[in-house]
Amino acid sequence: MANHLYDALFGRHEGSGRDFLILPDDSRVSHADFAGRAAGFAGALVAAGLGPGDRVALQLEKSVDMLAVIAGAIRAGVVFLPLNTAYTAAEVAYFVADAGAKLLLCDGRAEASLAPVAAGCGAALAVLNADGTGSFGEAARAAGSVPVAARTAGDLAALLYTSGTTGRSKGAMMSHGNLLSNAEVLTEYWRFTEDDVLLHALPIFHTHGLFVATNVALLAGCPMIFLPKFDAAEVIRHLPQATAMMGVPTFYTRLLDDPRLTRDLVDKMRIFISGSAPLLAETHRQWEARTGHRILERYGMTETNMNTSNPCAGERRAGTVGFPLPGVELKICDAEGRELPRGEIGTIEVRGPNVFQGYWNMPEKTAEELRPNGFFITGDLGVIDADGYVSIVGRARDLIISGGFNVYPKEVEMALDALPGILESAVIGAPHPDFGEAVVAVVVPESGTKPDPEAIRAALGKSLAKFKQPKHIALRATLPRNTMGKVQKVALRDELKDVFAP
Ligand code: AMP
Repeated sequence: MANHLYDALFGRHEGSGRDFLILPDDSRVSHADFAGRAAGFAGALVAAGLGPGDRVALQLEKSVDMLAVIAGAIRAGVVFLPLNTAYTAAEVAYFVADAGAKLLLCDGRAEASLAPVAAGCGAALAVLNADGTGSFGEAARAAGSVPVAARTAGDLAALLYTSGTTGRSKGAMMSHGNLLSNAEVLTEYWRFTEDDVLLHALPIFHTHGLFVATNVALLAGCPMIFLPKFDAAEVIRHLPQATAMMGVPTFYTRLLDDPRLTRDLVDKMRIFISGSAPLLAETHRQWEARTGHRILERYGMTETNMNTSNPCAGERRAGTVGFPLPGVELKICDAEGRELPRGEIGTIEVRGPNVFQGYWNMPEKTAEELRPNGFFITGDLGVIDADGYVSIVGRARDLIISGGFNVYPKEVEMALDALPGILESAVIGAPHPDFGEAVVAVVVPESGTKPDPEAIRAALGKSLAKFKQPKHIALRATLPRNTMGKVQKVALRDELKDVFAP
């Protein structure tokens, strides 16, 4: 039976002995081996009582088996929610409950803390460790073969949670068609072929490493050097074997800090791609001077997959994100959705087969951001120059992107305001030499108290993932506000822009 995404990504490689994954110790996983593991996990999902449309949540360390669970879920028609490994048990509880997941998969080390979460949400819990051990690994090995579930382009494949400015996370519904259409466009636009070798050091709980990188490699039929995380020394060790790398800007700044990055090292490389956060024009220049390569920057987001890209063959312009991808319509609009003349700054709106189906169980939120004519209001502020290159000039929603991870100020503010002795707070991002941006909290104490920043930090450690915790806390008597009573974050950003200056 036809399964739109599974057939295109995995099905056609099923019997192939060619390499799919190259692991850090240089051992290989062939497509046939990987498909066998995916089929086992599909069987284990079915044995656990999940069928097409049911949800499985996974908070797992990046591993071959984590990827095989995802392939198995697609094969079985089960909708998967990959969760950042940095999320605390309280955060995981929200996602599992909101998605109504029937099953939560975790690493053995997290079992004790997540057992009450699963029980509280009425979900089953199973363990899968990075080395394949654990109850779910055993279930996969014992599972009988189950048929590939029939799925069409319109069926849901994944729920990717992206926090909202209101503090409530939203599950972006990605269909089989959304994911496959974007992967097809990117594979062709970036000219990936089976002769490529993609260096993969991104996490696979986020759209960048999971869909952009992995799906492009699968469609092209090229192997991936599959590293558990970004480590500059490990990346440098593997670069001579690779022809392509996709990374967040932090990868590029960290590699530039290493004297072993030379032209000779990247002799075989065809393309370096950057996205998920703004790449400084300065980094672009330094990279070219050191390696001879102009980084190709592209722009996308969880809800839309990739929207724009600099060209493969034409000029890759530093500080821009290139042109709308084939099939993607992109407009710069005012608040009412009216298109602005070229050269004016406004909100970026996009439409195309890449744009998601809406937010899970949140019809009002969906209606606020997805227009009836199909255009999605991205919340990013952009401008198009005379040659058609798009630049991102800001983020309407004040999103902070620290080391490639999104931090929504409202969520951190709510955690701060809940602490004793704190009257109110404002959270902003400040330029940081390593993370691009880092979280800064401006805290107003209740009168007569003087909270200790170290104690605040320790308290937040219990409720927020590390990347969301403020790296600088400033105590103030009041917050700057405009006449409408809104906190003026622009003023705070300006005042605190140098707190991480070297
Ligand atoms: P996410 O949903 O985690 O992928 O984050 C999406 C957001 O990252 C976008 O809405 C942009 O604000 C930002 N973003 C992604 N790529 C770029 C880029 N190349 N330049 C500037 N911002 C980017």
